[in-house]
Amino acid sequence: MPLDSIVVVGGSLAGIRTAEALRRKGFAGRLSFVGEENEKPYDRPPLSKELLRGDREPDQIRLTKPEKFDELELDLHLGVRAESLDPKEKRVTLAGGATLDYDGLVIATGASARPLPGAPDLDALFTLRTLDDALAIRAALEGSPRVVVVGAGFIGAEVAATCRRRGLEVTLVEPLPSPMARVLASDIGAVCADAHRDEGVDLRLGVGVEDVLGSGRVERVRLSDGKEIPADVVVVGIGAVPNTAWLEGSGLEVGDGVICDATCAARAPGVVAVGDVARWHHESYGETIRIEHWTNAVEQADAAAERLLAGDGEVPPFAPVPFVWSDQYDLKIQAAGRLSPDDEMIVAHGSLEERRFVALFGRDGKLSGALAMNRVRQLMGYRRMMREGVSFADAVASARA
Ligand SMILES: Cc1cc2nc3c(=O)[nH]c(=O)nc-3n(C[C@H](O)[C@H](O)[C@H](O)COP(=O)(O)OP(=O)(O)OC[C@H]3O[C@@H](n4cnc5c(N)ncnc54)[C@H](O)[C@@H]3O)c2cc1C
Repeated sequence: MPLDSIVVVGGSLAGIRTAEALRRKGFAGRLSFVGEENEKPYDRPPLSKELLRGDREPDQIRLTKPEKFDELELDLHLGVRAESLDPKEKRVTLAGGATLDYDGLVIATGASARPLPGAPDLDALFTLRTLDDALAIRAALEGSPRVVVVGAGFIGAEVAATCRRRGLEVTLVEPLPSPMARVLASDIGAVCADAHRDEGVDLRLGVGVEDVLGSGRVERVRLSDGKEIPADVVVVGIGAVPNTAWLEGSGLEVGDGVICDATCAARAPGVVAVGDVARWHHESYGETIRIEHWTNAVEQADAAAERLLAGDGEVPPFAPVPFVWSDQYDLKIQAAGRLSPDDEMIVAHGSLEERRFVALFGRDGKLSGALAMNRVRQLMGYRRMMREGVSFADAVASARA
């Protein structure tokens, strides 16, 4: 049965790209677009990079040009939160009590920054997820504060790099033995650690944050080794949590994300999930996964739109090779596949010492991942090989040919 009305909940990358895909694929009915933030969709990657450095302003990071946005003819509900879902009635209730009935629902509510457990309520203690967060941090970086960044994952490492580029004193604290250690082999983590040290970051590895202290505003950070670091600004980057609280009580299956089948369909008629909030069955990996990367949100938007418009018809499974990038100082890092520190690794091009290389990762005889640092052109070829299921040995041989 053709759909007359679709509601998109989540007004950012996954939401707007799904709305665009729906229109592109011919959906001409009512398309409601609900976003908790007051902003029209904007891009998050610059928040820890160009915008925080002061090289870009909010108007320069919009995801859709104004005229293209208008062409979508959205029934817009910005600055308003979806509070609950009734999948039996096919109804979304917004804050304030208004309701939106749907034939199709797109859940694109993303994720929120994970707060530091037990952190006190102090001024200048930040997490970074939204444009408002980034502008508040940027304002706090005026006046040469001493900055402590908690967590050396991608976002924490980028914030540390940006603060150094602004000439600030930066301490980067990470409980694991190297930056981005959850995904990077220790050799590559060590390259990143050296880069931060060379740029003048005081890098504290293998140590956690026990407390953030101050009266009214941040004054110092106490580490698990008992040391205290003076701080005027603290930015916490310790991961993200999927925004599913509004679905509680709906009966929709949720578990670290909205659970979906291989085609992005959630467990209720006419409902799909997209982007950081979606946990779907990845057929090639044989398990459910959730990915917090920009490219995944964009690629999944197309697949979810296809799923919704096809009704009960067949659509191909969504089984991409994940892709992520990170910019820190002059390091351009790009990774494809599923990296794990336990994988077999060889440096196929360049060298770690030069900080210009492509590393290949193998698991169960297959090429499982590739990471490029300042040598990004070759990466897409390896991403294609992963899609084709090329063996690790053949990928290494092709690199050496
Ligand atoms: C600082 C930063 C830097 C990043 N840099 C990179 C990078 O370099 N490379 C990369 O690959 N990825 C990067 N990412 C990740 C990338 O931005 C995310 O994967 C992407 O934003 C996911 O889009 P999304 O639409 O699924 O979720 P989100 O961007 O989280 O958007 C979800 C939206 O839904 C809204 N919402 C939530 N709940 C409700 C509700 N109940 N009702 C209405 N609206 C709601 C939220 O307010 C938000 O606007 C970065 C992320 C951040 C935060």
